Amino acid sequence: MAAGVKPAQPPDQYGVAGHPVAHSWSPFIHGMFAKECGQNLVYRLYDIEPDDFRGEALRLLTSGVKGMNVTLPHKQAAAELVNTLTPRAARAQAVNTIALQPDNSLLGDNTDGVGLMRDLTGNLGLNIAGSRILILGAGGATRGILEPLIEAGPAAVVIANRTLSRAQTLAAAFADIYAIDACEFKAVAGPPYDLILNATSASLQGHMPELPPGLVSEESVCYDLAYSKGHTPFTLWAKSLYAARVCKGWGMLVEQAAESFFIWRGVRPHTHSVLEALTRKT
Ligand code: NDP
Repeated sequence: MAAGVKPAQPPDQYGVAGHPVAHSWSPFIHGMFAKECGQNLVYRLYDIEPDDFRGEALRLLTSGVKGMNVTLPHKQAAAELVNTLTPRAARAQAVNTIALQPDNSLLGDNTDGVGLMRDLTGNLGLNIAGSRILILGAGGATRGILEPLIEAGPAAVVIANRTLSRAQTLAAAFADIYAIDACEFKAVAGPPYDLILNATSASLQGHMPELPPGLVSEESVCYDLAYSKGHTPFTLWAKSLYAARVCKGWGMLVEQAAESFFIWRGVRPHTHSVLEALTRKT
């Protein structure tokens, strides 16, 4: 090698752990962020079975991987794995971003909430204050989005879930900051909601939870956190009831990824071009 020419640094390693994870767009999104921000990194998919999560995540994070996104079904296991939780991850008891710290400890954060809020209020221009919100599902995603939604000042928040006890547990966990109603799908009562968020993974299985009539008006915004090509059972349901706006979780996906990227690299990428590229592809 010629004198003065430095050898190329190997790229820093990141990735997303989930099961399944093959459908993830995160490598594409982080690849675009890295290019835009001039960051030398690779971003991989780590398909890890639930029973193997702790051991495999620790193996990766002690053998060169500097940070990891965590998706279903591992978000609560990730909260138990890390050494330190940010306040928003502690509140959610769910982690979607792990960052290896300079002292080799693991920091767990949750960027789902900020990602959803940036999409709802920034990209879609919605005002949450004073609105009535129905959330379907009481899993890791709901844990992450509840606090910022509540901080935006809604008039009512209802969580409906297939397993009632999980919705009740979540309502109890947030009782110090808001009186959330918890119920089963069949018990959701009107009048119509301003915002209905589908945070179940039912769309991934081609299902739509069975809900009573009278929950959607021509002013309702219906938002499926799931992201996929074409319609989901939830977006078809919302369209059939003439909801004012029907959206999928692409914007949330890109915004939560941008926040993770910022945590890892200290640089905030632009999101609009990535969202446009994804929308063109899907
Ligand atoms: P979890 O596995 O933690 O929770 C799944 C939830 O879906 C539970 O409430 C579960 O109910 C419910 N559920 C599962 N299957 C059915 C069904 N057939 N009918 C009714 N309810 C069902 O998943 P997450 O919370 O992590 O993710 C939920 C969704 O949000 C997924 O579609 C995911 O892709 C999406 N998501 C999108 C993000 C984005 O950036 N756009 C970010 C995070 C999540 P029960 O308690 O009864 O089991």
